[in-house]
Amino acid sequence: METYDLKCVQCNKIFQSTPITLAPCGWVICSHHFGDFSEITCILCQDRHHVKKSDCVVIKTIENKYAKYKLQQSISELELDLEKFKSIKQDPINHVNEFINQIKNKVCLQKDNIQLLVDFHFDKIHQKLKSTQTECQESLSEKSKFNNLDFNGLKDKVDLIELMFEHKITKPENLKKDSKSIEEFKKEIKEAIEDLTDGKLYTITPMDQDMDFRNLFGKLKIINDMN
Ligand SMILES: [Zn+2]
Ligand SMILES: [Zn+2]
Repeated sequence: METYDLKCVQCNKIFQSTPITLAPCGWVICSHHFGDFSEITCILCQDRHHVKKSDCVVIKTIENKYAKYKLQQSISELELDLEKFKSIKQDPINHVNEFINQIKNKVCLQKDNIQLLVDFHFDKIHQKLKSTQTECQESLSEKSKFNNLDFNGLKDKVDLIELMFEHKITKPENLKKDSKSIEEFKKEIKEAIEDLTDGKLYTITPMDQDMDFRNLFGKLKIINDMN
């Protein structure tokens, strides 16, 4: 069937609904372009005049040709459906498998995409750590607290305090003072070690326990009504 005269001049497709002839200009368009309105602006004529639906006519020859075309289309579609059914009937298990496999593929694709995002996220963290590691290693000579700690002097002081304490010659009034000194030495050593990593604390924030995986990653949705 020739279809050139079954084309809507507005949407340029074969009529999608009953063809209607605009009054007074005579263009034939799909009637659905009126939507729920009783009046539209004709965009086909230059002066963009108004068209009342009640003034328009449905021309029988066009309507009939369109009806014939529609029937022919429906028959062709049904024939295809019948063919499809026939082949499924021969191997219904295969159809079920294909049906499920299509969903599986979508699920896999989604998983891969999420995996990429996760990998990207943690790669960035690893890169940051790696550059921090390099920076720390390369600036070793600038770490004054670490490099300038008087280890031997400190050790001598500690040994003396320990020796006096073990031989019970520490005066009672010095007990608190010695404790304080020991605490300060401990702090000094801690700071010297931490100086190697710039005295910064690195940690990973814990995963959000309330994270809704189903919404975040997608969930299998089974809809009962296919229409
Ligand atoms: Zn149209
Ligand atoms: Zn017009």
